[in-house]
Amino acid sequence: MDTKDVDVLIIGAGPAGKTAAIYTARADLKTVVLTGLTNPGGALMNTTDIENFPGFEKGIGGIKLMDIMQKQAERFGATFELDEAETFQIQTADKSNSNRKVITTTMGETYLAKVLIVATGSLYRKLNIPGEKELAGHGVSYCATCDGAFFKDQDVIVVGGGDTALEEALYLSNLCKTVTIIHRRDVFRATKILVERAEAINNIYFKMNSTCEEILPLPDNSHKVGSAKILNKNTNQIEDISVTGVFVAIGADPTTQKLKDILDLDLQGYIKTDGKSSKTGIPGVFAAGDCIDPDYRQAVVAAGSGAKAGIDTVNFLTA
Ligand code: NAP
Repeated sequence: MDTKDVDVLIIGAGPAGKTAAIYTARADLKTVVLTGLTNPGGALMNTTDIENFPGFEKGIGGIKLMDIMQKQAERFGATFELDEAETFQIQTADKSNSNRKVITTTMGETYLAKVLIVATGSLYRKLNIPGEKELAGHGVSYCATCDGAFFKDQDVIVVGGGDTALEEALYLSNLCKTVTIIHRRDVFRATKILVERAEAINNIYFKMNSTCEEILPLPDNSHKVGSAKILNKNTNQIEDISVTGVFVAIGADPTTQKLKDILDLDLQGYIKTDGKSSKTGIPGVFAAGDCIDPDYRQAVVAAGSGAKAGIDTVNFLTA
């Protein structure tokens, strides 16, 4: 069996994986990044404009930002492979520092790595309703902090009843004309204090026991959100409401399924790391970005987390 020896194998090519690659390749470590096959580059590849990533005065497109980060890592010698990790094995019984990580991929490669950096990200849960996929990035958003500014003085809905939905609604209420929270039950999952804060704000409205059934474009063929069909489960009536933004906030799941047998995960599936570091329970396996962080989910935070994994890797290999 042909194997590829590398110093560092990075799984995931979002801002965390790419920043980690910049650090490790720049430290002269042979670095390969597996981009994944379904959404190489991660969540930012579906983000039209990013206005809050520092360094870009006028904002930057998600695809462009990912491209620049990749070129920056490649300049130092990192290589990117359109491939996906399938199996993970740590060779050595004692899990000592000299262990080797054996990773097989969908494309049939086997990598032997001194260090493995897991930066697999997370996926926002989808409603899976008509119009959601078609209008994603054109009025359908999964992140108010990222996209809220595009909806100034407009009418939007937030779907969900957890802490994220309430926080997003509060954030959007400062920017938008109206924010209507659509929640499928008659009680919120979110903490009481967030609910009370939202109830005290006069441009936040509530539609409880309600679900969003369809998202429709504007009739002018501009391929932007124009309205949403909301089902009131008490009356069984469907109401068409005019909105230009639909924020889906029904949770996210870390992409860690394939790693559950080798790494310690918390109850939600996020990889556990040691204190402020990127260290997992296995020497030489580091984790960064959204797959360790249920709270912040921002490109700049993921990039910073990737930098930590890069630094931890260099320290591990030079210790
Ligand atoms: P969450 O707590 O899992 O809440 C998801 C919400 O979306 C629930 O209200 C759920 O309804 C609803 N939902 C799920 N699937 C749905 C579907 N298919 N259609 C319609 N509604 C659906 O997720 P989250 O709000 O993202 O929070 C994740 C974790 O991060 C939580 O532990 C939360 O406490 C934490 N968090 C904390 C803070 C903070 O402390 N400031 C901020 C954000 C998040 P049901 O209620 O009916 O299940």
